[in-house]
Amino acid sequence: MLDSIWLLLLLPLAAISGWFAARQDQRIKLRKCGADIPSDYFKGLNLLLNEQPDKAIEVFIKVLEVDTETVETHLMLGNLFRRRGEIERATRIHQNLIARPKLDRYQRSQALFELAQDYLKAGLLDRAENLLLEYAEVEKDPEPALRQLLYIYQQEKEWDQAIATAKRLARASGESTDEMTAHFLCEQAEEEIGKGHVEQASVLLKKALARDPSSVRSNILRGQIAHDTGDCDKAIQYWKKIETQDRRYIPEVLDQLAECFKETDNQAGWFELLNSTLKKDRAIPVMLKLAEEIESQQGATAAREFVIEELRQQPSLHGLSRMIHLSAIQASGQSKSDLETLQAMIERVLTSRKTYLCEHCGFRGKAMHWQCPGCKRWNTVKPVWEGSEE
Ligand SMILES: [Zn+2]
Repeated sequence: MLDSIWLLLLLPLAAISGWFAARQDQRIKLRKCGADIPSDYFKGLNLLLNEQPDKAIEVFIKVLEVDTETVETHLMLGNLFRRRGEIERATRIHQNLIARPKLDRYQRSQALFELAQDYLKAGLLDRAENLLLEYAEVEKDPEPALRQLLYIYQQEKEWDQAIATAKRLARASGESTDEMTAHFLCEQAEEEIGKGHVEQASVLLKKALARDPSSVRSNILRGQIAHDTGDCDKAIQYWKKIETQDRRYIPEVLDQLAECFKETDNQAGWFELLNSTLKKDRAIPVMLKLAEEIESQQGATAAREFVIEELRQQPSLHGLSRMIHLSAIQASGQSKSDLETLQAMIERVLTSRKTYLCEHCGFRGKAMHWQCPGCKRWNTVKPVWEGSEE
């Protein structure tokens, strides 16, 4: 069976046969015209028919002398191999092309770019990076190369280079790269926090917010630094900003917020924040947190009444589970154990549900990712609770 690669290799054979036929018509002797080309082709065909494809390819490539006429064929051949997952063969063809001194500037940079694709596919990021840098330099920042360089720098966590490349990409494409740049700065800030360099981290987070004022991650991290250094008032101030940036992320800091309000002995402020947030969109985690607070402050009966009222406004499995839990506290004997069993069953259903969803590619996961592991976009993974999914 001949697939596209073999058809491509045999194409020049057809051309050569036609050329020879024409030559014969003119009664010019074959020897004078370099008749060894077709014999090599037949040798290749023979190897192919004897199921020795590797040797056949070697012969064909040798025959298909690289010159300005056949560069396109070599490029196509290399790409076909890469698409079929035969990276070594693709690499060999592209390397062979680059080694030729006859190539013009455009052909050479095309070959460079294709070889970079081979290396990328083979996971040889350093080699791909070097070629892409050369290609980007020669071709004056073409978008595809810059995007691939960005991919490499993110994979390798080379944030300085990622920031510089994002800037070049913004210039070349006209699209804003501020959102991703803010994340790169947050990544650097997290590294500094890990080393205990909170001042350097704070500077980076300020820069991130200047780039992208809606950067929730910057405020989460700023709050974290303030909390870790014992400044709970400041931490609350930063985390409260998330409400105006993107309320969906509030659940990410609810536990730390509760801690800070307790440490500053500001229960009234905490209740006020929970109530005002709940009024805005009845977020389930906020409702559950408020139920927890009411239970510890006023007891199970008051908490149960609150949850029932909330369930009337927005039915949810989480709310139901909490309501059953609160009812079980007040029950005894068989009904208590029945309620506990029921609640355990509902909890099992809820645990099996994923709570983070990428709005772009539909990736689901149990942990928060600022960069989607599926589509590699930033800021597309959102916390999802039942009822807020559609
Ligand atoms: Zn995604």
